[in-house]
Amino acid sequence: MRARLEPFGAWVRTNDATLVALSRAGAKRLGLDGGELWRDPIEAASATRPRAPLEVHVAVTSRCAAGCTGCYLDARPDGDSPPFDELAARLDAVAARGAFTVAFGGGEPLGRADLGELAAHARARGLVPVVTTSGLGMTAEKAARLAPFAQVNVSYDGVGAAYEGVRGFDGAAVAERAMALLQAAGVPFGVNVVLTRGSFDALPETLARADALGAREAQLLRYKPAGRAASLTYLETRLTPEQVERLPRVLEEQSRARSLSLRVDCALVPLLSGGDLDLDAEQLGRFGVFGCEAGRHLEALDVTGAARPCSFAPEGADRGAWREPPSDAPCATCSLRAVCRGGCKVVARHVTGDLGPDPECPRVRAHARA
Ligand code: SF4
Ligand code: SF4
Repeated sequence: MRARLEPFGAWVRTNDATLVALSRAGAKRLGLDGGELWRDPIEAASATRPRAPLEVHVAVTSRCAAGCTGCYLDARPDGDSPPFDELAARLDAVAARGAFTVAFGGGEPLGRADLGELAAHARARGLVPVVTTSGLGMTAEKAARLAPFAQVNVSYDGVGAAYEGVRGFDGAAVAERAMALLQAAGVPFGVNVVLTRGSFDALPETLARADALGAREAQLLRYKPAGRAASLTYLETRLTPEQVERLPRVLEEQSRARSLSLRVDCALVPLLSGGDLDLDAEQLGRFGVFGCEAGRHLEALDVTGAARPCSFAPEGADRGAWREPPSDAPCATCSLRAVCRGGCKVVARHVTGDLGPDPECPRVRAHARA
């Protein structure tokens, strides 16, 4: 068990998959004592901002040969890969600040020969490491060395045209081979599926295939206009309003039909506000759904070690500005505000020039029409 004391009580991690927020009373029952932190009344304490991130995304390289058209980092074959000691020191600092999860990204992390050792280093500091890979360069030997990871997420946007439509080349077979190697090595793996206009309708087929290949989780990701995706093609690649409207029902159907777990990324949360499911913040919170946590529970370290509010935020993004939800209508009075926090600032900034409200949210669109 690993715990971090907070004004409200404590965050407690009981295993790789479970992180819970406990009240002061609950934390006391585990023998924790908040001392000074628990001196103020709970109401005053609950108004305080998160003191440190729970999850930190660490770019372990900006090198990648895949050349995906929508790469959020604009990774290239001649990118940087910091030495092990430098990254180990960054992981030490992340652990010292009290984060629980560290997500390795890139570039293509598999290009590092010491990836497994970096994960083991994170483990030794009490962090839970996960990593995202395209699967390019996976071998049986590499898969076996990824055992220290709690989960390896393989980018898998669908089969054939669905994959190619997102990335500009058909890498589905490479991803499937990587999954088979991870399965054989006994390393837990999931898939990351980017939702675009072209890949959305293939989602049931994509998830069925990932399920059959042994993925234990599918994380659905919104297409974000960062890096090479921050171009004019963004507008014709993003989900259509009609697809956004259907999204909640599709997720509900797929979560019933599949044995793998379904997760939605932070940026998809506002897109759940349309349709006919009538979700509220309490329901979403109960299922551990978090919206925009940029600069709050989430932080990113780019390949130079510089901190950003989230991995998609531009260099020099102001953490204070990024962590506040917009105070404009309709977000100001929205029933999902506590969870959604005004939607994705990366999208809002690209489309409108402001950090919110999220212009692709169905409620924001309806407000604009009204
Ligand atoms: S109106 Fe604002 S807070 Fe509500 S769901 Fe949309 S983006 Fe999120
Ligand atoms: S700006 Fe917020 S919602 Fe968008 S990717 Fe970053 S953390 Fe997620």
